Amino acid sequence: MDFAGITPTNFIENIIVDDLKSGRVNNVVMRFPPEPNGRLHIGHAKAACFNFMTAQKFGGKCNLRFDDTNPVKEDADFCDQILYDIRWLGFEPADILYASSYFDYMRDCAVKLIEKGLAYIDDSTPEQIKNMRGTLTSAGENSPFRNRSVRENLALFDKMQRGDVKDGGMVLRAKIDMASPNMNMRDPVIYRVLHAPHHRTGDKWCIYPMYDFAHPLEDAIEHITHSCCTMEFEDHRPLYDWVIDNCDIADKPHQYEFARLSMTDTVMSKRYLKQLVDSGIVDGWDDPRMPTLSGLRRRGVPAHAIVAFCNEVGLAKAVGTVDTAQFHDCVRDELNATAKRYMVVPDPVELDIINIPDDFENFVEVTEGGDYSVPHPTAIDPEVNNTPVVTRRIRLSKRLYINREDFMADPPKGYHRLVPNGLARLKNSFIVRCVGFDTDDKGNVTRIRVEKTDEVKAKGVIQWVDRDTAADIKIKSLSALVPDGDGDFTERINANSIAVGSAKAERGVNDIPVGEGVQFFRIGYFARDAKETDAFNQVVELKSSYKTTK
Ligand code: ATP
Ligand code: MG
Repeated sequence: MDFAGITPTNFIENIIVDDLKSGRVNNVVMRFPPEPNGRLHIGHAKAACFNFMTAQKFGGKCNLRFDDTNPVKEDADFCDQILYDIRWLGFEPADILYASSYFDYMRDCAVKLIEKGLAYIDDSTPEQIKNMRGTLTSAGENSPFRNRSVRENLALFDKMQRGDVKDGGMVLRAKIDMASPNMNMRDPVIYRVLHAPHHRTGDKWCIYPMYDFAHPLEDAIEHITHSCCTMEFEDHRPLYDWVIDNCDIADKPHQYEFARLSMTDTVMSKRYLKQLVDSGIVDGWDDPRMPTLSGLRRRGVPAHAIVAFCNEVGLAKAVGTVDTAQFHDCVRDELNATAKRYMVVPDPVELDIINIPDDFENFVEVTEGGDYSVPHPTAIDPEVNNTPVVTRRIRLSKRLYINREDFMADPPKGYHRLVPNGLARLKNSFIVRCVGFDTDDKGNVTRIRVEKTDEVKAKGVIQWVDRDTAADIKIKSLSALVPDGDGDFTERINANSIAVGSAKAERGVNDIPVGEGVQFFRIGYFARDAKETDAFNQVVELKSSYKTTK
């Protein structure tokens, strides 16, 4: 069912193709509508990727719209962070818009509903309104204020706007049907009193619209053609359509729902993430263990990997939980193709090359960059593979460190690294033969002595770090902050989610910019932390624990 050479790949794209063919829509206009009450997480990335990439695919446009209708929880800083994250993912919004810019229009729509006898002011307390709502199996009750005259309703709505009503003192409700089997249609509240300044409109308003009323109007004013949100809004769609129909909107936007992203060993809701931040369990929204985009960025996850993952997960209506290991696989694929490689020794033992002069100094040229035999995995920019290869020079002298596990005095069969009298290649350099070693009184190896040889073949390759110029770094292995399990998430917080170790590293690590994911040979992918700059966070492990049939 192609359209103009475009092949739809999910049910919403099928709908778009139908709409374009039937002429309901000429230009696709979409939006990503975050509420600026927290930072974006990887679930939001799924929605953002979908909206921006679908609009792009059909030659349409996608806005970033801040859904800022609740001044109590929202602020300008969150708006800035969200925009930064969206651009980091690689998307440039067609327009950057704010729901709060439409407050006048929304108020006018509310007045229109009152005039049509389709909305009324209710003086009941929130408690009373809740009690009159009924249940899933029983109808609700009409409010005693339901049959107020249009005149009285207009006057009271005016009073609400003037600031003469205290918070919670009155609400404006849509007059729909208290017996509707859909609870959302039982005279929902559409405006409330909130004496709170707004980060954009200041003190202009003391009434604020509720989401279900505001959202369709925001879509209408922006001529959104396909308003896509997550499944929990499916039951709200009749109300969405009611608002559109009764506010006399000609160019009707349509709402479609898809499954939200949830992942194993991760809490995703902003509410929970905020709790982690506020309680100090994490060091901010950008803690590298958080599933926020700022956390993932600080951890060293490339934006491309997030986009690739969202594309791989795809879009469906069925809710499922994605294995976090699948995400890590996408990160690994990306870093394998793009990350620079460094030699780092976490468990150092000294190694002396005894047959070279004390002042021997050699600079080993290494090519930086990924394994270019691996095709670049992301959909966005396959050309990344052609990044020029840069070289770095690594100092090699008589005095080195190697990893303790790369030498065995009494090796088992099949051990191919350094052993007494055996040969091994120093990575990127010559081959050495082990001629002796020292131990302490507990039998631990303290120093290994080798000789440089002219041999050209050795089974083992070992990495090393120059002792005189080595950098001391911290390495942090990160595991799930909130592993899956029973009970409240606060009871599942993993107190050992950061394991700190130290390492000797080649001097070049000092030049690795904050947040850039690199590979430490044989150890894993790491990135320098933004706050603790001598520490490197583990991005992902070197080996996959996730088997795909990709
Ligand atoms: P949370 O439940 O995490 O607090 P939210 O839905 O309240 O998120 P919004 O800022 O309102 O956050 O979301 C902006 C957009 O992102 C909405 O269209 C919403 O449907 C979508 N979205 C939020 N969470 C997810 C998720 N886990 N997967 C996919 N889309 C999501
Ligand atoms: Mg929300």
